[in-house]
Amino acid sequence: MEPDVLAEIGAIVGEKNYSNRVAELYAYGFDASIHHVTPDVVVQPRTPEQVAELVKLANKLKIPIVPRGAGTGLCGSAVPLEKGMIIDLTRMNRIKEIRVEDLYCVCEAGVVYDDLQKALAKHRFSFPPAPGSAEACTVGGMVATNASGMRAVKYGGTRDYVLGLKVVLPTGEIIEVGTRTLKNASGYQLERLFVGSEGTLGIITEVTLRIAPKPKKSAMILAGFNTLEKAGRCVSALIAKPLLPSAVELMDSTCIKAVNTVVDAGLPDVEAICMIEVDGDPKMVADELAEVVKVCESIGAIGLQQTEDSAQMAKWTAARKSVMSSLSRLYEDRCSVSLADDMAVPISRIPEAVVEFRKIAKKYDVIVGTYGHAADGNLHTKMLLDPESDTAWRNGEKAVGEIFDTCIRLGGTVTGEHGVGISKAPYFQKERATMLSTMGAIKRALDPNNIMNPGKLQAWEGSILTHLRYPCDEYCEKS
Ligand SMILES: Cc1cc2nc3c(=O)[nH]c(=O)nc-3n(C[C@H](O)[C@H](O)[C@H](O)COP(=O)(O)OP(=O)(O)OC[C@H]3O[C@@H](n4cnc5c(N)ncnc54)[C@H](O)[C@@H]3O)c2cc1C
Repeated sequence: MEPDVLAEIGAIVGEKNYSNRVAELYAYGFDASIHHVTPDVVVQPRTPEQVAELVKLANKLKIPIVPRGAGTGLCGSAVPLEKGMIIDLTRMNRIKEIRVEDLYCVCEAGVVYDDLQKALAKHRFSFPPAPGSAEACTVGGMVATNASGMRAVKYGGTRDYVLGLKVVLPTGEIIEVGTRTLKNASGYQLERLFVGSEGTLGIITEVTLRIAPKPKKSAMILAGFNTLEKAGRCVSALIAKPLLPSAVELMDSTCIKAVNTVVDAGLPDVEAICMIEVDGDPKMVADELAEVVKVCESIGAIGLQQTEDSAQMAKWTAARKSVMSSLSRLYEDRCSVSLADDMAVPISRIPEAVVEFRKIAKKYDVIVGTYGHAADGNLHTKMLLDPESDTAWRNGEKAVGEIFDTCIRLGGTVTGEHGVGISKAPYFQKERATMLSTMGAIKRALDPNNIMNPGKLQAWEGSILTHLRYPCDEYCEKS
């Protein structure tokens, strides 16, 4: 980047708040996906006004911008495909207001989810989406990806809690959308437009969130099954009962083996398990537990375990949360990569989906671990492959294509919570064929110079095997 442009950036944010040092730029080229592209400069503003000045400068000089939270995204949304400027929001991390009597809180975009949860917990409230990356991900990143987590079936995802936003548009104009009221019928619900926008329409600097009282009690059931298909059927049987568990986490035998081997989780050695959580008023929890047991038994569950002990529940939850890292350490010659990691299908189609994923994995000689927040139809698969082998990547890509085709055929989506980024770009296009031109029109109206996260959520040509961060010959990042 030209020295005079760097000088202008320094004049806006101060000399200590930007960097073009090689090591730092390299680190900002990653998120938690398979991709990597080194940006030209990284800037850490402290105020919306600084963000606005940076955006005006970038818009004048047509410098690509990628807003960034904690960089925990799993599909390359924060990877700067066209290099340019990373705007790191993590220094804007103040919780500005918590108003339990009005059921909302206001915080800057860089507030970490767990920090907000701790602050809300003092009032016995919470912001429920609870993604697996809770310790690191930012509220701005959650809005920009419409993140959610294991309790979405009962409590919804981020979009259900966004009341209002402060946003810097691609022209540098600062706007406020939404309200601080629970209801608002006042015009276009523009706050929703920025949910899931992956940094392509503007930079979110402040978020007003609806908050919810914490449930008084929770309890969990661990149910084993001798086929993955039965575990899938258990999920839809619970929902159709009707029951509204706060979470149902499904794990297949590959995931069970990984957590038992790597973190000694002590889960039953079966083909699949469902971890079912119920919460609410103590009397309701007791009634629901009894009903859940009946449903599990009717599907043929084995080795049912039940607990209200918080330490045991934390142990099971930790086992589930360690799936991703454990899969990577299961085999010496393969690591777990985020390919086809986040599909969603209508709940009743889960049994069909999980069985089909297994067949596809076998066909292409990749190991697929299937797990997920199954009660809302969200399934994760992680592919275990040799990341230095071009053949393995090619097979992986073919498997991804078929997995996504299956989900679309079953009436699902290629991404339930992580977003599109790079890793799902061509499949998202397939899924959303009738929506793309309207999205393009909105994008051109707000961002005529296409400076905001260019290449994302737009027409995509070619493979997802581009700018890989692994040392394979054919597809890795070429500088
Ligand atoms: C171990 C692990 C577990 C995970 N579990 C879950 C899960 O359970 N549920 C789930 O939904 N996700 C999960 N994720 C994915 C990820 O954590 C979420 O997508 C999260 O919301 C990303 O937040 P972030 O702050 O890291 O955003 P980043 O990764 O930095 O950015 C993500 C996208 O948001 C944009 N963005 C970030 N901040 C802003 C802003 N202020 N304004 C405009 N655009 C912005 C970026 O440009 C990018 O497009 C997981 C990731 C990991 C590594």
